[in-house]
Amino acid sequence: IFDEFSIKTLIRPVNDFPKPGVVFRDITPLFQSPRALRMVIDSLIQRYVEADFSHVGAMDARGFLIGSIIAYELNKPLVLFRKQGKLPADVISQAYQTEYGEAFLEVHADSLCEGDSVLIVDDLIATGGTLLAAVQLVKRMGAGIHEAAAIIDLPELGGSRRLQDMGIPTYSLTAFS
Ligand code: IMP
Repeated sequence: IFDEFSIKTLIRPVNDFPKPGVVFRDITPLFQSPRALRMVIDSLIQRYVEADFSHVGAMDARGFLIGSIIAYELNKPLVLFRKQGKLPADVISQAYQTEYGEAFLEVHADSLCEGDSVLIVDDLIATGGTLLAAVQLVKRMGAGIHEAAAIIDLPELGGSRRLQDMGIPTYSLTAFS
């Protein structure tokens, strides 16, 4: 059973990180609880076990933690969407705005093909900039998005709305406003 309350108590608000005025939602306590991590992963597995998609796409860096477990459990190929300069082979690159400034998201150019369908995952949706950049990269490779999934949504920052307005189904386990 998914106990949203106990998950929420393991997400710690940190004031003024990474800059003054921002309340950072820190999920490291959740990762330190085997029971909570299992609950989070099991909920996502249950949602996607019978879904029709070909790849799991995980966002650098905390998205890797849940994306890799989902890919392992569902026996799907895992594609890494990384911050600029981390991937060694040929990449395609997408500029995007973060909560805190401009950045580039990259993926290996040969990691997806036309017709592939990707479940993209991250720990948290804020402005949606990261997942929207991943959507652009997936589309530039001729593939499609199955859904965007996260543990936490911050709806006041508009990201989940923005994704949905772009026609991307969006799912989160919990939200903070
Ligand atoms: P977005 O691109 O604005 O939606 O921001 C989401 C990305 O930034 C994700 O990769 C998150 O890991 C990270 N992020 C932004 N704000 C927070 C936060 O409050 N807690 C944890 N991660 C955050």
